Amino acid sequence: MWMAWDRYRRTQRGQNIKIDFYTGMPTMFSVKKYSDALDTLRVQRGVGGHFQHNLVAVDSVNHRAVFKKSDGSSTDVDYTLLHVTPPMGPLDVLKQSPISDSAGWVQVDQTTLRHVNPDFGNIFALGDCSSLPTSKTAAAITAQAPVLTENLFSVMDTGEVSAATYDGYTSCPVGVHSHSCCYCPWLIYIYIYQTAINWLW
Ligand SMILES: Cc1cc2nc3c(=O)[nH]c(=O)nc-3n(C[C@H](O)[C@H](O)[C@H](O)COP(=O)(O)OP(=O)(O)OC[C@H]3O[C@@H](n4cnc5c(N)ncnc54)[C@H](O)[C@@H]3O)c2cc1C
Repeated sequence: MWMAWDRYRRTQRGQNIKIDFYTGMPTMFSVKKYSDALDTLRVQRGVGGHFQHNLVAVDSVNHRAVFKKSDGSSTDVDYTLLHVTPPMGPLDVLKQSPISDSAGWVQVDQTTLRHVNPDFGNIFALGDCSSLPTSKTAAAITAQAPVLTENLFSVMDTGEVSAATYDGYTSCPVGVHSHSCCYCPWLIYIYIYQTAINWLW
């Protein structure tokens, strides 16, 4: 959305195009600090904010999108260009598996990444399929992979996990301009560890 906004302005079309942001979430971002910064940017740029609006249907022939609101009512919106992020969830192959929790994620210890059930002690998981209570990003995996590797080899060598632990690191670079982004890192188990918003120019 921000990249499109920037492109429209740089090609002198910005004044003729209205951008609206619809999200099923109550805020711009799941972490308040970053959400507040992005919401300030949204207002500055004249982008409409429509929170707790869940996309439930698209009539592509008539260019209408239907959103369900938090009070249960629906709203139809005309659009010219609709950019959608589809709902995401666990793989079907894991949903019914005994190694997964009730939501369908492989149920691992959030620090060691080893399966919580000793019967499945030879199973480790990271990334999107795991039950780790952090935002699912490739960035998070870069912090999880070394921990998993150390613990996996330790279990193979000694039968016990090592001292390596995952701290919940994840991050999200939000491109806000053709040449800049807002880098949003956080440690989900501990705190939002950057004190300043990281605008990278
Ligand atoms: C639109 C979008 C933008 C994103 N942007 C960012 C970003 O800017 N920064 C960031 O850090 N992260 C980003 N992410 C998240 C990131 O892409 C994921 O967290 C990451 O790819 C997860 O890696 P994974 O290996 O756990 O799972 P996946 O990448 O989903 O890999 C799972 C693999 O398993 C395969 N598979 C599925 N079923 C089976 C089966 N039955 N048998 C065998 N193989 C199977 C799939 O084909 C796939 O190759 C983004 C995600 C999306 C959707």
